[in-house]
Amino acid sequence: MSRRIVIVGGGPAGVGAAMAARQQDPDAEVTLLTDEPCEPYEKPPLSKAVLLGKAAPHDAPIAGPGGVAGHGVIVRHHARVAGIDRAGRILTLVGGEALPYDALVLATGAVNRVLPLFPPDQPGVYYLRNLDEALAIRAHLQQAKSLVLIGGGVIGLEVAASAAELGLKTTVIELAPRILSRMCDPETGDIIAARHRTAGVDLRLATSITAARALPEGGIAIDLASGETIAADMAVVGVGAMPDDALARAAGLEVQDGIVVDRHCRTSDPAILAAGDATRFPGPHGPVRLENWRHAQEQGMVAGRNAAGGESAYDTAPSFWSEQFDLYIQGVGWPVPEPTARVVRTAGPATRITFDLDGDLLRYASGINAQRDIAAARRLIERKIPVDPAALADPAVPLAQLLKPRA
Ligand code: NAP
Repeated sequence: MSRRIVIVGGGPAGVGAAMAARQQDPDAEVTLLTDEPCEPYEKPPLSKAVLLGKAAPHDAPIAGPGGVAGHGVIVRHHARVAGIDRAGRILTLVGGEALPYDALVLATGAVNRVLPLFPPDQPGVYYLRNLDEALAIRAHLQQAKSLVLIGGGVIGLEVAASAAELGLKTTVIELAPRILSRMCDPETGDIIAARHRTAGVDLRLATSITAARALPEGGIAIDLASGETIAADMAVVGVGAMPDDALARAAGLEVQDGIVVDRHCRTSDPAILAAGDATRFPGPHGPVRLENWRHAQEQGMVAGRNAAGGESAYDTAPSFWSEQFDLYIQGVGWPVPEPTARVVRTAGPATRITFDLDGDLLRYASGINAQRDIAAARRLIERKIPVDPAALADPAVPLAQLLKPRA
């Protein structure tokens, strides 16, 4: 009998797992469960091109034009899992249907952190994670004149850039004294902040909210600790995400702010693997959780291969990208708590890369409008090639040249 592999979650981790499982064992019966009604789609355009009306999510199916089913995977839509019987290796769907499995992959992703002052069901208040939410925001943006973003992270800044491009009066309220503090150094953050301000975005840093209320005429009023009140037609909240580990927790798997997995994506039950935003896995500085597209897809592929009898280990340098106005912002590697040196390479006012070193090894690089150099930095990091700080700083030295062994 063929191996039965069930995958829970239709994001990049789940789709990566399903396709890799089929490649590893073409005879396996692979079933992907998604609670959404449609073909799994890419999420990065949701906060950018979809809001601007330049793309529809259906333009970007994760598995390509033939969809996940085109890869020999059974796809079940509207499928919500009620529970897992680990002893019997049976998964039960809401509605009662039972699905037996030989290997199970949990790729349940993350859920938005909700601020009690901004209930998701309040008119004019939005959170952004899926297609329906993006379409609801887009519909309101087309009528609104003003928008306030709560949180100056990737969601807040990408939606702010889209709204400013659409001509809305746009305000970002960020608790921390600077934007993107976990992804960029302060100077890079300043360049991004300046670009927002040039486009008319009112960026409020180190600003806390004391109250928020719906206005009788529609819209929302937000009171700040400074005593000022900001009113807007709508608010989008992007204050971070939490792993969706409820199913794993209910099944008695080891969970610590994320489903705990080993390098092979195995949970505390060897028949159950997990991948993507929902997991906590061994990183170079201890157990870690990541929320980015490449991590989800690549860890998903490792989980899928291993569910189908493989023995791959997950060992990918993490990376992120974000598009805001004409800035293409990227980061790659594992940030070190205390780099031994920080080197900056600039090539014009809006092209900059910051390199964090540990001895002569590059550990983390973040940059603006420097895609080719960031791709080379990724290889320097992954291959652990010793680097010369002076060459890193010199824009006349192509980074790709540093990939060659020194004579
Ligand atoms: P995020 O990037 O973690 O940013 C949240 C921001 O909100 C942080 O700057 C945080 O400050 C701030 N914040 C927290 N509480 C606040 C409060 N009460 N008032 C004002 N600011 C507050 O999370 P996100 O932007 O919500 O994104 C959610 C998820 O979507 C993440 O998984 C993200 O990776 C994903 N996503 C990724 C991309 C991309 O990679 N391009 C794009 C969109 C979404 P502190 O840092 O001080 O906590």
